[in-house]
Amino acid sequence: AVAIDEFQYPNSYQGVFPVKVNHNRAVISSLIQSGYQDRFGVEVGSKAELCLALTLDLHPEALIVCNGFKDRDYLELAFHASGHGTRILIIVENPIEVDDILRLTERHGHSVLLGFRARLQTEGSGRWQESTGDRGKFGLSTMEMVEGMERLDAKGCLSSLVCLHLHIGSQVSHSLNLKESVREAARLYAALSEHAPELAYLDIGGGLGVDYDGSATATDWSINYSLEEYARDAVYFVKDICDRANVKPPTILSESGRALTAHHAVCVVSSTRVVGDHIVRDYSRFETEQHHVAELRGLLEETTFENSRETLHDSRLMFEELLEAFKLGLASLHDRAVGECLYRDIRVCVLRLDEDASDNDPDLIKLKESLIPKHICNFSVFMSAPDSWAVQQPFPVAPITKLHDPGRRPATIGDITCDSDGKLERFVGDGETVRSVHLHTERDPGPYHIGIFLLGAYQDVLGDYHNLFGTVDEGIIQINGVDAFTIIDSSEGSSVEHSLSQFGFQPDQMMRAFNRRIDRDRNVEDIQAFKGAFLRILHGSTYLKP
Ligand code: PLP
Repeated sequence: AVAIDEFQYPNSYQGVFPVKVNHNRAVISSLIQSGYQDRFGVEVGSKAELCLALTLDLHPEALIVCNGFKDRDYLELAFHASGHGTRILIIVENPIEVDDILRLTERHGHSVLLGFRARLQTEGSGRWQESTGDRGKFGLSTMEMVEGMERLDAKGCLSSLVCLHLHIGSQVSHSLNLKESVREAARLYAALSEHAPELAYLDIGGGLGVDYDGSATATDWSINYSLEEYARDAVYFVKDICDRANVKPPTILSESGRALTAHHAVCVVSSTRVVGDHIVRDYSRFETEQHHVAELRGLLEETTFENSRETLHDSRLMFEELLEAFKLGLASLHDRAVGECLYRDIRVCVLRLDEDASDNDPDLIKLKESLIPKHICNFSVFMSAPDSWAVQQPFPVAPITKLHDPGRRPATIGDITCDSDGKLERFVGDGETVRSVHLHTERDPGPYHIGIFLLGAYQDVLGDYHNLFGTVDEGIIQINGVDAFTIIDSSEGSSVEHSLSQFGFQPDQMMRAFNRRIDRDRNVEDIQAFKGAFLRILHGSTYLKP
């Protein structure tokens, strides 16, 4: 609205929310409620999402933009909804859709609003930059748009074509790519208008990014522009190009998802224990005479600042020889146990002595990382922050317990899945991505909570049931000013029973199968206790009990 005012844009803006970014009913409802006066609509990309959209309480003029691959059923439902007064805008993403749409127009006896998704030459920037260009999966080439218009015209349907659509990929990191894409699209819009006089909407798609890593630069996980710049560019270039081509500037649509929802969700996890923390062990009682162990002991005793690098190299060699000796049966279990402790103590000692130099030496950086303690937290990365595993996306992490206590140490986070990929190892540093986050490692009694932030876009629906860990308990909290909040709703996460049923293990069949496993010769209390233990887990949460 500010940009429209500033450039005296002679038309309006209408937003739609791409529901694939967050299917949560509460999220979608609050967006369409708060955008009701501005005719805020939704974008769908599948049959299921179209069904979802048709149950929403939208403003009568709000649009349902239909993207994605479409079969007859998808198009059929869209036509019916349009016939019943819903403002459906079908975006043609593939040339064959034009013929299907023409057939349905004839059968239903009415048309629907149509848009062409242009395959722009301008590429996006960042992680999803391949969404457009010649290799893009979606959209029509210029020739396909020309042929599409000819086929519509031949059937007297060209007046249905009201929109030009584009989407150059999610999380566009550089403002130049946004500017270029809007310029290219506005030119296309003006040129198409000469052939399709009813053209009235330009949909600039999604892509408005989020500054996940806090750097405010064009890295994959940040953006080098503001919301204001984004809006000003869209409005300015569309107006400028349309004015010069003597074409009425269109209603501008956008399909921002990530930027609208990323900030709303935080996952609060509790640390169950810390592993890899350096615990000084007393192994003096194991008086081993083994050669390598004795050498390692000597190295530890004689480590100084001056010889620390040499000690590191020598100790590594000695430790590897010790392992070899163990494999050959020349070193005992105790030798190996003491050797592991000594080798670890040497590395910790070297790091402490040589802390400053370590930032420049790849060996020491690796060593530092290998000694960073890990908080094992009661959650699944695959369910709650899947993009950190799938595309190495960093999410801001901060302690919630003891937030005001400055006693912090570098740490990483592991989850409770039985998968070594179940970890967070990329964190937001001072304007860059770093390998650890500052947490507390002291073992105070009571829970230690850590927040993983900016999880509101894409994470819920991409999450999966690895190890059968299911959805987590949720609270929907409304912030009322600075200090006040209301808990609007809360729900329990998946039970074990629910997680299992996703994979064909139905509760009644499971109970029958379980009963066959019971040894009826045992006493009644024992049988009841066995059953009770099974049912308690089946009906409980998939996560660890505090
Ligand atoms: N519109 C379309 C067609 C998309 O494919 C996407 C996602 O990639 C979006 C909108 C939402 O993009 P974003 O979440 O980056 O705003």
